[in-house]
Amino acid sequence: MARRKKIYEGKAKILYEGPEPGTIVQYFKDDATAFNAEKKDVIDGKGVLNNRLSEYFMNGLNQIGVPTHFIRRLNMREQLVRSCEIVPLEVIVRNYAAGSMSKRLGIAEGTQLPRPIVEYCYKDDSLGDPLVTEEHIAAFGWASQQDMDDILSLALRVNDFMSGIMLAVGIRLVDFKIEIGRVFEGDYQRLIVADEISPDSCRLWDIESGQKLDKDVFRRDLGNLTDAYSEVARRLGVLPKSNVTKPTLIN
Ligand code: C5P
Repeated sequence: MARRKKIYEGKAKILYEGPEPGTIVQYFKDDATAFNAEKKDVIDGKGVLNNRLSEYFMNGLNQIGVPTHFIRRLNMREQLVRSCEIVPLEVIVRNYAAGSMSKRLGIAEGTQLPRPIVEYCYKDDSLGDPLVTEEHIAAFGWASQQDMDDILSLALRVNDFMSGIMLAVGIRLVDFKIEIGRVFEGDYQRLIVADEISPDSCRLWDIESGQKLDKDVFRRDLGNLTDAYSEVARRLGVLPKSNVTKPTLIN
């Protein structure tokens, strides 16, 4: 069988040409990076967990009418997605102050914000993904005004959905990042949620204890990252419970 064509390799994922036109296979690696790849490690099992969790979130979004690139999971590490043109913005939604916002504005981490705040960063690793305003986005043609209206609406719908499912399992959605893709349907273009939604791209805190269950565990050396992601997956019922009896020769 011919080897499939690699389209792109990023920090946490590889994209291959999909089996049909307009599709892509998204492969989740175990590599973890932080601080624009200054900190790196390979975390056993992270890719498998993120593949499952992203499937779970994207499937749910598709079901409530928020369009995403997700088609179906193929195996432990791969999912089939729609090919799209990525808008060069990282769209960040914050419900509580944390991370770069706390640093930039001097607001204590964990402070509830008066309403969800949406920020945009220009996707460019060599510049460290700088924060930009809608003025920059319009002036440099990264997205039109109509696109920005659609992006804001998608971001807030993802926030409501993700906040709700997390709250139901005792987790606070502090903030998250999504990426947006452009797909062309005849003469029209549509914006959809692309890339991944996983604990790599969200801040998730246990409501009771405040324990961090996201990539900050790796960024800040707070413990075992796979344990944290497995806990999120376990609460959501995404992975089989660990106490399921293993089959033996007699059962
Ligand atoms: O670092 P900062 O506080 O701006 O991150 C906000 C949210 O966006 C966090 O949940 C973080 O994991 C996510 N993020 C991301 N990829 C980036 C930057 C931020 O997933 N390149």
